[in-house]
Amino acid sequence: MTAQVIDGNALSRQLRAEVAQRAAALTSRGHQPGLAVILVGEDPASAVYVRNKVKACEDSGVRSVFEKYDASLTEAALLERIAALNADPTIHGILVQMPLPKHIDPHKVIEAIATTKDVDGYSVLSAGELMAGLEGFRPCTPYGCMKLIESTGVSLKGKHAVVIGRSNTVGKPMALLLLQANATVTICHSGTPDLGYHTRQADVVVAAVGRRNTLTGDMVKPGAIVIDVGINRNDEGKLCGDVDYASVSPVASHITPVPGGVGPMTITMLLVNTLEAAERVAGQA
Ligand code: NAP
Repeated sequence: MTAQVIDGNALSRQLRAEVAQRAAALTSRGHQPGLAVILVGEDPASAVYVRNKVKACEDSGVRSVFEKYDASLTEAALLERIAALNADPTIHGILVQMPLPKHIDPHKVIEAIATTKDVDGYSVLSAGELMAGLEGFRPCTPYGCMKLIESTGVSLKGKHAVVIGRSNTVGKPMALLLLQANATVTICHSGTPDLGYHTRQADVVVAAVGRRNTLTGDMVKPGAIVIDVGINRNDEGKLCGDVDYASVSPVASHITPVPGGVGPMTITMLLVNTLEAAERVAGQA
């Protein structure tokens, strides 16, 4: 058996076409969705991420406002800018690209974004909404992983899901989303003594570690769905995930590639969140 590839690019194209359609409908009613993207400093990787997000907006009919600031920008000035965007009715989502320069407290910045515009879903309130099963913005990467799993047509109800990694932005929200979908969830981390013991019992494995070859074929139950969130480089400098694709693919039923799996879905779900934020406002208008 060779696993079926879950094509994140294809699913992204489909979801972005839906976003474009709904964005056009909102725009015709005078409510074009708007996303503000703020970049502070010169981190080259952040610059690429931001460029991709802005381009995805343009391609989908979502207005983007890109604000780039020098690394010397003060925390107070950034908070002031966020307050202005919070009050701007043409802006429905605000994204501040991380990491920020060391003199700026990222928690303060995230909490300054209005919850109704927190399309990254990183604030404590958004995390609480997810925890409580309330409506709210879900962090884009785990939200995208859920869409990838959904696209296999396999129901999560009663399945055992293992999440490797417990970060606030990926692992923890991922586990909560799986739980909400009625999976039985195990969370593993760097203190888990025998990772393979857990993953071998899993119907679904989500690897979000940031270390290549964390999950190998001998650690996977035959027929499992494997979602690879990791972004790493191999010895040749090529992009790879946390999963050893060559040994896992013959064992799993479905697998996401790196690149072309989770990556494109993260930006897509940012568009979906921004669109939904605009739809909520338009619904109230
Ligand atoms: P992170 O904050 O560094 O968290 C990594 C997690 O992995 C931690 O919870 C850590 O455990 C755990 N871990 C480390 N070594 C482990 C081991 N040997 N066994 C089991 N667990 C282990 O990273 P992150 O932000 O969640 O991101 C994870 C990966 O996903 C990175 O490669 C990142 O680049 C990638 N990523 C991709 C996308 C995308 O769009 N494709 C988006 C976000 C992130 P402790 O908590 O015990 O330290």
